[in-house]
Amino acid sequence: MRVTLSLTSAQHAAIHTHLFPGDGREAVALMLCGRATSPGRAKLVVNEIVPVPYDACQRTDRRVTWPTSYLEPLLDKALRRGMAVAKIHSHPGGHLHFSKVDDEADAALFGSVHAWVDDSAPHLSAVMVPSGAVLGRAHHADGTHGELHHVCLVGDDIRFCRPPAGASREIPEFARRHAQAFGRGTFEAVRGLRLGVVGCSGTGGPLVDQVARLGVGEIVLVDPDRVEEKNLNRIVNTTRADIGRPKVEVLAAFVERLGLGSRVEAFPHDLSDPAALHAISTCDVVFGCMDGVEGRDLLNRLATFYGLAYFDVGVMLDADGHGGIGQICGSVHYLQPGRSSLRGRGLYTDGMLEAESLRRQDPAAYEDRLARGYIRGVPEDRPAVGALNGLFSSLAVMEFLLRLHPSRLDPNGGFATQTFSLTAGYWENLPDEGVDEALARYVGRGDMVPFLNRPHLDMLARAA
Ligand SMILES: [Zn+2]
Repeated sequence: MRVTLSLTSAQHAAIHTHLFPGDGREAVALMLCGRATSPGRAKLVVNEIVPVPYDACQRTDRRVTWPTSYLEPLLDKALRRGMAVAKIHSHPGGHLHFSKVDDEADAALFGSVHAWVDDSAPHLSAVMVPSGAVLGRAHHADGTHGELHHVCLVGDDIRFCRPPAGASREIPEFARRHAQAFGRGTFEAVRGLRLGVVGCSGTGGPLVDQVARLGVGEIVLVDPDRVEEKNLNRIVNTTRADIGRPKVEVLAAFVERLGLGSRVEAFPHDLSDPAALHAISTCDVVFGCMDGVEGRDLLNRLATFYGLAYFDVGVMLDADGHGGIGQICGSVHYLQPGRSSLRGRGLYTDGMLEAESLRRQDPAAYEDRLARGYIRGVPEDRPAVGALNGLFSSLAVMEFLLRLHPSRLDPNGGFATQTFSLTAGYWENLPDEGVDEALARYVGRGDMVPFLNRPHLDMLARAA
């Protein structure tokens, strides 16, 4: 079982401030974490932080002891909501490892945590050092514990804390040129990454090609459609022989043939499929490459509940069908849990969501309301050019690399939205402003009933 932890940069900063008050002594905070699970994978996501007050603790430079009265309310919540309890303490001396003192304290603590919250899923202990690096371990119900695969910090930058490697691995030949640009650390982060791509057509296809060639460790593909002849103008690595096969299957087979070590999970389903949702929930990073707005709305919500860094790619080729072009443009949005949303940024409206949902659920009613002028139609069978899709999928992958390996003159915060118009000749960058309050309350909530607090998803799960 590969276990990871995800938290936002804002959560990380709050914990860091509490754990390092500047007096050189250890401090401790408790956390309530949401859970994500898919086969062989588990992820904890920070939902709530409870700093244990300094004056309630006995603190030295080697040890911190604290009253368990701070734990009890969290245990109660964890039990009721199916969540995990986590303890994080500081090592002001900078030692990023669990000491003997920690081993003894954790054995006692997590013994009683498991006795209280008796659901056989892991809880978490972590150490933070002044640099902000975090080392975590999962404490299992049978009394054993294992190091986390990594801790992912999602903010303007995306940062991974991985356990100190033993002997550093040789960089494979195929990745040498990438490592020359972005360094060994970035290559190793990419190697350890679980990355989702939702929508595997015009923009998703070339994006999968690029991330596989970066050497991403795990790639999860979601798309319900099959390859059609009309797709051959733009889906990279598809051929006439692939017509009729699910797009995800064709791309997964390609990544396999590429032979660079990426492991692929392919879901030939809509994102609302329960297995697909769970597989994406245990990712670190997700790319949304969808035309519609319903899928985007769902993915933005999923990314919030499960602490994912979310890149949305969209292209627009506005043409009259007879060679007259209105405009050619596209955008890449980067979204962080607890910040603004695609909806808040005006990418779509509630009316557009409703129209798309109606078309899916009740096509006759949709046509009727469209004819009466009550709703705006959902764009269908738009013109598409592979080169345009490739441009914006490349921009999205570069955006991901620049957040993993910050290299801009200005901070990444100023590049939440990038809109590029080829016809008007402008490239606009906008910062992440405002918070989607309706979503923000679910940051790190993880698995719950109903799934994503959306009852219709549970109905789909039961039907599956
Ligand atoms: Zn310690």
